[in-house]
Amino acid sequence: MLQIIPIPAFADNYIWMLQNDDSQQVVLVDPGDERKIMRFLEQESLQPVAIMITHQHYDHTGGVAALVKKYPGMKVISPDSIVSEKPLSIDLPIAEFITQPVSDGDQVEIAELGLQFTVLAIPGHTLDHVAYYGQGMVFCGDTVFGCGCGRLFSGSAEQMSASMDRLSALPAETRMYCAHEYTLDNIGFARWVEPDNQDIVARDNVELAKQEKGIPTIPSTLELELKTNPFMRFGKPEVKKAAEKYMGKALFTDAEVFAAIRAWKDQEYD
Ligand SMILES: [Zn+2]
Repeated sequence: MLQIIPIPAFADNYIWMLQNDDSQQVVLVDPGDERKIMRFLEQESLQPVAIMITHQHYDHTGGVAALVKKYPGMKVISPDSIVSEKPLSIDLPIAEFITQPVSDGDQVEIAELGLQFTVLAIPGHTLDHVAYYGQGMVFCGDTVFGCGCGRLFSGSAEQMSASMDRLSALPAETRMYCAHEYTLDNIGFARWVEPDNQDIVARDNVELAKQEKGIPTIPSTLELELKTNPFMRFGKPEVKKAAEKYMGKALFTDAEVFAAIRAWKDQEYD
């Protein structure tokens, strides 16, 4: 059976490790820091066979060079860097390590673990951002967080809201693996936007209980995000109304509502 194991990194990142029960071969998603991973791999005698990168921010790619050096022959699957991308000043280029550059609609096969993923382009947080969808799960990086979404670094609200629509169209039971533990904080903002949404109140209690026991709130499901995440609910009249109240004017498109909610969180909540 396939296990998805979180390896915490930095203050609040999750590096996801995929492993079948009967094998020592593993896949790593967004290894931003090699130190903890390498210790873990050595302790458990594990062999990484592939890395999957959702986007090229340092906290998702920082461990790639050291891992490739230690485990040569590993596949590195990543979106190609985009020329117009504005990298963060501390991002490290990984172009030389990529063995399979991917873009929208590509298939990724990791035969060692019997895994297959479809690549979905989901620009917004960055222009190069992709998700990997397969086996009933989606690795969505910094696009959808638990009850929230990533900031718009180099993409636009139009792109991000369209990316949200793409992810919203996946089966409701899809398990969503994002790259940061921000859920509780995000729920606080979701309650500002929709104070009467009882699904958000219920989620607050459930996620708080998990965190008090040291259990990750991730993965969530698409179904839960569609009920509680204001950044996936910009098409709902109640969210539109709240966004219009914040902006003090009528909003006409999904992207405008999305942009208003994003600005509201950036300016008043964070
Ligand atoms: Zn990022």
